Order: sequence, then C-alpha cells, then structure tokens
Amino acid sequence: MRDWLQCIAACSAMTFASTFAAQAEPLNVVATFSIIGDFAAEVGGERIALKALVGPDSDSHVYEPRPADAMALAQADVVLTNGLEFEGFMTRLIASSGTQAEIATLTDGIETMEEPGGGHYHYNNGQAIFHAGAHDPHAWQSVANAKAYVRNIAAAFCAADAEGCPVYEINATRYADALDVLDAEIRGLVATLPGDRRTVVVAHNAFRYFEVAYGIHFLSPQGVSTESEAAAADVAGLIREIRETGAAAIFAENISDTRLLERIAAEAGLTLAGTLYSDALSGPEGPAPTYLAMMRHNAGVIAAALDAI
Ligand SMILES: [Zn+2]
Ligand SMILES: [Zn+2]
Repeated sequence: MRDWLQCIAACSAMTFASTFAAQAEPLNVVATFSIIGDFAAEVGGERIALKALVGPDSDSHVYEPRPADAMALAQADVVLTNGLEFEGFMTRLIASSGTQAEIATLTDGIETMEEPGGGHYHYNNGQAIFHAGAHDPHAWQSVANAKAYVRNIAAAFCAADAEGCPVYEINATRYADALDVLDAEIRGLVATLPGDRRTVVVAHNAFRYFEVAYGIHFLSPQGVSTESEAAAADVAGLIREIRETGAAAIFAENISDTRLLERIAAEAGLTLAGTLYSDALSGPEGPAPTYLAMMRHNAGVIAAALDAI
C-alpha cells in the first residue's frame, strides 16, 4: 500500500512537470490523407494533435466524408491538403464544417505535371472512372517534391503557432535530411538495373512524378467508351503497349482492385510482381506505414522484379 501511495505522489509530480513543460494546447491539425499526415507528424512532433481524414490503404478519390470529419475541421487550426483536385471531397466538407482554419495547399510552388488527356482513369468493378484534372495530383511520388510539401507544412505551422516555429523548423530540416538519403537510395537502386528493363505496369497512372525523377517507365490501363456509355479499361491497347515496350513486370496497388491487373497479367503472359503503395500508406503492420518506408518498399519491389528477369 505504501509503494502504491508513493507512486501516486511521484507520478503526479512527473505528470505535472511534463504538462508544465509542454504548451498548454496542441495545434489542431487535419491532414486530408495518410501520406501528408505522416509528413505533418514528422514536422509537428508533440506540438500538434493530428487527424488524417482518409486512412491507410484507402482511396482519397472515392472517399465519403463522415460527420466526425466536419467536426475535426471545425476545430482545426491548420488544414493540410494536397490540392490539384486530388481531394474531391474537400470543397463541400470545408464549406459544411464552417472551419476558420488556414487551408494549406502543399503542392503550392511545386513544378506540377500537366495531365495530357485532361485527367486519368481509376478502375472499380470493371468500370473505368475518369478523374478529371488539368494537373497530375500525385506529386509526392518524387522525393524532391516531398521536401517541398514539408517546407509548406513548416510554414503553415509557423504561421499558426509562432512560438513553436523553431521546433517545426528543426524537425523539418532533420526530416529533409532523411528525404535526401531516401532520394539517393532510390537513384542508386535504379542505377543497378539494366537500361532495357525499366518499364513496368501499374493499376492507375499515379507514378509519373516517380518516372521523371527516377527513370522507371510506367504503363497503366486507359479507358475506352463502350456501347453502354460507361467506360471500360482498354485492356487490348495496354497488352499491345506491353509487347511493344517489353514491359517486364506488373504490380497490384494497395488502393485498387487487383482483378483487372490479374487479367492483364494473364493476357500478357506475366505474373503480378508485388503491391505498390501509390495514394495511401499501409497500416502500421504493413510494409509502408510511413512515407520513407513506402518509397523504399516501392523502389525495392520494382527493382527486385526488374532485376530478377
Ligand atoms: Zn485519381
Ligand atoms: Zn491516384
């Protein structure tokens, strides 16, 4: 009993000390999806209370907001979004929440890629869904761009919490160093691959920034109109492209249905060579619970598949 009482006294003193040392209220941050949530956690550390709306392995393109999301936005000090029409659900959610928070667009200042066809396709239950947008939103797939996201996050946090700014700056610089190491690792990995073995197939056109940064060429199914007016995947066109380019590996994707990819692999005489993480992280038990782990996993899976042939 005595030990227990002593513990209460000691533990209360410790709790008081740590509460006293920390700021009174954390900065309330809402990130739209898991990847920028991870960046925010790196920059904000213990000074922020973070909520990511679209969770691991989930597709932001088709996300249906919940009432709890509107409440989180209403209470937020800072809202972090990708922009480039990636989070189609946000415009209405921001309006309905009545949030007064600063809405930071993390692709601001990034050299964005145009979408040659005015958008890209997603595939659900055999149907092609056109995601319209003038610019390719998947900018985080190049590590240089991730560094720009991190700078934008630090600026947004500093604007909302000037007292914490030195901490955010230190965290952002430390994380940028880790991103530099990651970038060099991916370049080193790709450099080991034979020059004629650098074309792969993915479920949707999410890797164009990775392609330009690192020199892996990605093919993905496009949509074709059918008699019923609903678009379908142009499997025949993609098979032709696979044969013409000598694409050597096909990958499933964590946010997409694998059935279309299995069919394409079977028709092209290839097998699925693993799962890539494109628009969302994995859960904590998966291979891509952080951005650093996601990029390492993707580069490693691609290199292993191309090297093995
Ligand atoms: Zn999309
Ligand atoms: Zn996407």
